[in-house]
Amino acid sequence: MSAPAPKAAAAASAALRYVSTRGRMPGARFCDVLLGGLASDGGLVVPQGYPRLGAAELAALRPLAYPELASAIIGRFVDDIPPGDLTALARRAYRAETFGSAEITPLQTLEPGLHLLKLSNGPTLAFKDVAMQLLGELFEYVLRREGRTLNILGATSGDTGSAAEYAMRGRQGIRVFMLSPHGKMSPFQRAQMYSLQDANIFNVAIRGVFDDCQDIVKAVSGDAAFKSAHRIGAVNSINWARVVAQVVYYFKGYFAATRSNDEQVSFAVPSGNFGNIFAGHIARMMGLPIRHLFLASNENDVLDEFFRTGRYRVRSGRETAQTSSPSMDISKASNFERFVFDLVERDPTMVARLWREVEDAGGFNLAGTPYWRGIAQYGLVSGRSTHADRLAAIRRINKDYGVIIDPHTADGVNVGLQHRESTVPLICLETALPAKFAETIREALGHDPAVPPGYEGLESRLQRVAVMDPDVEAVKAFIASRTK
Ligand SMILES: *Cc1c(COP(=O)(O)O)cnc(C)c1O
Repeated sequence: MSAPAPKAAAAASAALRYVSTRGRMPGARFCDVLLGGLASDGGLVVPQGYPRLGAAELAALRPLAYPELASAIIGRFVDDIPPGDLTALARRAYRAETFGSAEITPLQTLEPGLHLLKLSNGPTLAFKDVAMQLLGELFEYVLRREGRTLNILGATSGDTGSAAEYAMRGRQGIRVFMLSPHGKMSPFQRAQMYSLQDANIFNVAIRGVFDDCQDIVKAVSGDAAFKSAHRIGAVNSINWARVVAQVVYYFKGYFAATRSNDEQVSFAVPSGNFGNIFAGHIARMMGLPIRHLFLASNENDVLDEFFRTGRYRVRSGRETAQTSSPSMDISKASNFERFVFDLVERDPTMVARLWREVEDAGGFNLAGTPYWRGIAQYGLVSGRSTHADRLAAIRRINKDYGVIIDPHTADGVNVGLQHRESTVPLICLETALPAKFAETIREALGHDPAVPPGYEGLESRLQRVAVMDPDVEAVKAFIASRTK
């Protein structure tokens, strides 16, 4: 009869709270931050701390199948969904029928010590499906429990929007309004989104560029009265649940590439908004034996510049190049603030100060600070990959292993191979299938990539999209008339 007291104390102190990187948000729980990501003070929500897994816990995770692994890992960040419910949601999200195999994210070995972790076998053929499919289950569960409905408003230049639509299609209590730049996406990406005929999915093509779409989303979400009257929410790359769902496949990849938990591996990660690689950082903070996280930028090298020099300099829209790895064409990296929070030893005053400098002066410089001197402990090493490098990597992997990789994956492979150490296995994250980017594959190899089964004729299916000018009021009226 003496055990319960300390146990209860432990449970109470383990209560999991989410805080803001800028320090001015009351502690929140997982389901409170599920539908958002942006904290009330303009910062990003982060867990109060990272759970640290001991040797016994890692050993217990190794044999688990994907859904159970997901539930075990994500469960460490959730204390307001019963574990049994979370497992049921993970089992529904991670089915062989949705991802092509029971492994969900299978490891393909190119040669001993060099692997591809295949994250892009979900419905939209890009890694964003892995997180988004779970998010769909989580949203539906929480909304039903709370008797609420949600209208998701987003802007996309390709992969995020379609992954969100495929995850939310047909769901109870959820509608999706997705803005995309008219005529700017690849024909395949366009067909993927616009051919959806579900009554709860609304595609809006804006006559403008991605930034125009993004600005409209900001303006609509910034109208507090409209936002609450029409129950507007988001699923953008700062969504915390998306980040945490991505932690799982770092574990999966690690277990698949190693035999015991004292081996180290490194990961190569094609990066844009720093969501994918930040999940790798979390896995490493949790104690997964990751030696390096190789961050690959394309020509839009905001992140590579930071990790080489300590200087973070956001780019203007004009300075942001359109490249052949378009999902990495970013001018600032929206999840980066979460990493900087860790880097400055979780000092929210410092983060608030740095992001004021971003607002006022377009960036900040940590070179010469104690924080910068300590950066090596995080294992992040960066590199930059250009169009020519991308083509070369696609050719090399095809020639050496008979495998075709997509242009984003090629950026990661390129940077990973440059930096890898001969004694540490390298796992390159495959973030999309080549079928999505036929033009670049044709340029590299002289022929089209294979179209996966079920996607034949996608581009000739009936498309459903409203084309509109970049006009905030018109978009609001469009939403209002469909969300009474
Ligand atoms: C979104 C995306 C990326 C970049 O991922 P981040 O999480 O934004 O760093 C890379 N490759 C592909 C194919 C993507 O869709």
